[in-house]
Amino acid sequence: MQLTKLSYLDDFSLMQDEAIVLQVIQENNTIIILDHTIFYPQGGGQPYDKGIIENNNGKFIVEEVRFVDGIVKHIGKFEYGTFNVNDKVKCLIDKDRRELHSRLHSAGHVIDMAIDELKLGWIPGKAYHFPEGPYVEYSGNLENIDKEKLKTDIENLSNKFVNEAIETKPIFMDKAKMKEVCRHVPDFLPEGKPSRVVMYGKFGVPCGGTHVTNLKNIKQIIIRKIKQEKTNIRVSYDIER
Ligand SMILES: [Zn+2]
Repeated sequence: MQLTKLSYLDDFSLMQDEAIVLQVIQENNTIIILDHTIFYPQGGGQPYDKGIIENNNGKFIVEEVRFVDGIVKHIGKFEYGTFNVNDKVKCLIDKDRRELHSRLHSAGHVIDMAIDELKLGWIPGKAYHFPEGPYVEYSGNLENIDKEKLKTDIENLSNKFVNEAIETKPIFMDKAKMKEVCRHVPDFLPEGKPSRVVMYGKFGVPCGGTHVTNLKNIKQIIIRKIKQEKTNIRVSYDIER
């Protein structure tokens, strides 16, 4: 089976696109496989997109999107009709849902920019950018740190970056180059093969998610809580909704 080309890696601002149907699979739900897709499958702490795939033959409601072994599965049901293999279809993303997810996700990276600039020496770990209780985690230590002051400092600096209206841009580069522009390059990324980095101005983020095109779109970041959990520090945050 042909791997799905992930169009959102090249341009995460695309909310509408045309694609070719490769397969229509009937299980409990219906699964549509396309040659390329703008739909974001769940992963990297970011929820999947929803939306519509349609042409003259049918209208498909995308309820869930998953990435399995290089193939994106658009899962849902037909409101009417069906597609034939090789049909050209129009893909439309639920814009409000995607925008909220991109803003929440980018806010997590902006908080990381602030933490980097504050030279706290924390090492980035897990991130969770779902609308319910988003947070970013680090390995580090909060001992002898004034948490209230730190909370204010991270929040103020994060919002300074937002207000500077810094633009973001996806670039493909190999691991050696990534180490020059990113503060943290995860070990699992392949050597010698280009991976995507999203530049937040000069700050490189190795990440496959969807992002705002300009940090001003985040509007405002609120740091809710900073908490030590064993060897991890969890920074819980939110954005203006
Ligand atoms: Zn990310």
